[in-house]
Amino acid sequence: SSTSRRLAAESIASMEAPFAHGIRVSAVQGIASDGLVSAIGKTPLIKLKQLSADTGCTILGKAEFQNPGGSVKDRAALFCVLDAEARGQLKPGGTVVEGTAGNTGIGLAHVCRSKGYKLVIYMPNTQSQGKIDLLRLLGADVRPVPAVPFDDPQNYNHQAKRHAEGLENAVWTNQFDNIANRQAHIETTGPEIWAQTEGKLDAFTCATGTGGTLAGMTRYLKTKSDGRVKCYLADPPGSVLHSYIQSGGKLQDRSGGSITEGIGQGRVTDNLRPDIDLLDGSVHIPDEKSIEMVYRCLDEEGLYLGASSSLNVVAAKEVAEKLGKGHTVVTILCDGAYRYADRLFSRKWLEQKNLLGAIPERLQKYIVL
Ligand code: PMP
Repeated sequence: SSTSRRLAAESIASMEAPFAHGIRVSAVQGIASDGLVSAIGKTPLIKLKQLSADTGCTILGKAEFQNPGGSVKDRAALFCVLDAEARGQLKPGGTVVEGTAGNTGIGLAHVCRSKGYKLVIYMPNTQSQGKIDLLRLLGADVRPVPAVPFDDPQNYNHQAKRHAEGLENAVWTNQFDNIANRQAHIETTGPEIWAQTEGKLDAFTCATGTGGTLAGMTRYLKTKSDGRVKCYLADPPGSVLHSYIQSGGKLQDRSGGSITEGIGQGRVTDNLRPDIDLLDGSVHIPDEKSIEMVYRCLDEEGLYLGASSSLNVVAAKEVAEKLGKGHTVVTILCDGAYRYADRLFSRKWLEQKNLLGAIPERLQKYIVL
């Protein structure tokens, strides 16, 4: 037994001995005692080394793709469910209903399985089979319905609402106008970024789908820094928010579109409304820049990002350039490229979208599909 003690001591010593590279990875978290839901958040804040060198600033990306459901929306999904529980709208055995084919649905599916709730998802029947399959295999009852405009009562959002209203012990999470969504970022993403940077950040930038991330982060950072940290919206084509901010509050009709899934907005949601006036400005990012940054982040940083993340990174770079050398700019890496690879890395798709020319020659080797 003295031999085994000696062996144990030696192996622990060798495990703790630093490797020659000297890089220290962060300490592991404790046990996620509430199961999967307590593994949501606490994501790394990654320095984008090449972009930081290029701009003379520190550009940091919050690695939201590391959440269990693979996106920033896990946080909002969890907070919508926790809020419904706290209000007594959801009790054991209850049902969550939402209208979405996107990341929120996936986040809700994980949260509902982990907490034992049923999940019903309404979505337009124009969504890909892949999305339907994924939600179904995560246990959701998926209901594809005709893709009709919002003012039609058969629109998937209204159907989701009616479904929940017609059931006992059920809640429509309503991510766009449920402010539990932004609360997730006020209570988790914001404090995490503040702690990770020790409050030493100068600006934050991110795009908007529901507006939960941008609004929650802006509220938190403005409060915590006494207004010092500058916050900017990053907006894709087809969204009305950039012109809304630039024009001092004029809402125009929505026109055009973007390859960046999950972002772009046609109205000021309830999540955005209380905080949109706190913003310092907005940056419009064309698809050419977003797609190029998908490839650059892969090539230069080893990051495999979806297009909303890379749009955010472009915005962070532009804000860094505007502020000048020595500043720290933080943004959100919303999700990975996994669910979009058949488009983002397909030559045919890039040609169809007229975006092949946006990929620099040296990066075209990544167009493998
Ligand atoms: N990126 C992706 C990939 C998303 O799915 C979403 C949510 N629709 C967002 C960004 C935007 O986040 P939020 O809803 O908090 O504005």
